[in-house]
Amino acid sequence: MSATDWHEYVGAIHIHSTHSDGTKSIDEILPIASQAGLDYILVSDHMTLKGLEEGKEGFYGDLLVLIGYEIHDLNHHNHYLAFGLKEVLSPELSPQEYVKEVEKGGGVGIIAHPDEVRQLLRKFPCYPWTAWDALGFNGIEIWNHMSEWMEGLTRINILKMAIHPRRMLRSPTARILKIWDQLSEKRPVVGLGGIDVHGYPFKWGPFKLTIFPYKVQFRAIRTHLLLRDPLSKNLAKARQQIYSAIKSCNAFISNYRWGDARGFFFGFEVKGRISLPGEVASLGQGGKIVCQSPRRANLRLVCGGNLVFETFGNSFEYSPKEAGNYRLEAYISRKGWVFTNHLRLS
Ligand SMILES: [Zn+2]
Ligand SMILES: [Zn+2]
Repeated sequence: MSATDWHEYVGAIHIHSTHSDGTKSIDEILPIASQAGLDYILVSDHMTLKGLEEGKEGFYGDLLVLIGYEIHDLNHHNHYLAFGLKEVLSPELSPQEYVKEVEKGGGVGIIAHPDEVRQLLRKFPCYPWTAWDALGFNGIEIWNHMSEWMEGLTRINILKMAIHPRRMLRSPTARILKIWDQLSEKRPVVGLGGIDVHGYPFKWGPFKLTIFPYKVQFRAIRTHLLLRDPLSKNLAKARQQIYSAIKSCNAFISNYRWGDARGFFFGFEVKGRISLPGEVASLGQGGKIVCQSPRRANLRLVCGGNLVFETFGNSFEYSPKEAGNYRLEAYISRKGWVFTNHLRLS
């Protein structure tokens, strides 16, 4: 198996439409996503599957649209993205219960914006995940632009942040990467990028502007999925392929702002056989970690939360001596560009 035996699909996850608090309808969102060159989008309105009920799931040209929803608890906290369900669960459930129910229903469950913190804008409170004892979630949003932007706001930089929203963004927080690395020690937990796009206008005194319109967000945080077979044109099969790639952690995240990361490769090679993030490989027969990047970048290899190797360039090879969960971070001008899922070496 070689790198070319995989098929890469690039999409945006965590999208709100007018079915909840987004400002564009699904029909209006579709051409914007297509023009941005996305292969798939995952829509997740708050507590509703109306888009699914209206039959909006499907292919629109080459764009695949899948519809889940964003669950919250009775206090509007503990947001959880649920995909692959046919019905909305009871709003009475606790986070521990809805995590379990999504798993039981064969769905995909992703903890949304897990570590939100903010100092300013009291009328937009933060919604961190607090129910870490919930069992059975598939993954966490390790990068959410909205959370990062809100956290970075101060009274001094607010105008600059509003005028250059994407330029001010750096990377997932060290806090969430630490949580993710720790969770991944016990079992595979997929890390995804969530755009959490609403396109709503933001007001600060006399200023009113849309900080993160759909068009801009579709050119920012993207989740690249690696599939063994080309994406089927049959909706049921394609849906299963996308959700299974997410559950299996066959994914990496990029910020398109710093370059198109299509073709970025990170894997483990032994005797011509290549394992990718999400897969388990044995160190018993030697082998090397291989990374290839379409752009020169600062490439950082992390194992168990610790930096083990770092270089600048288009590629590197590294012979790991220790078993562990390895992932790759790529930075361009100190801005986070690519974050892969863990390659599990035993
Ligand atoms: Zn949310
Ligand atoms: Zn949301």
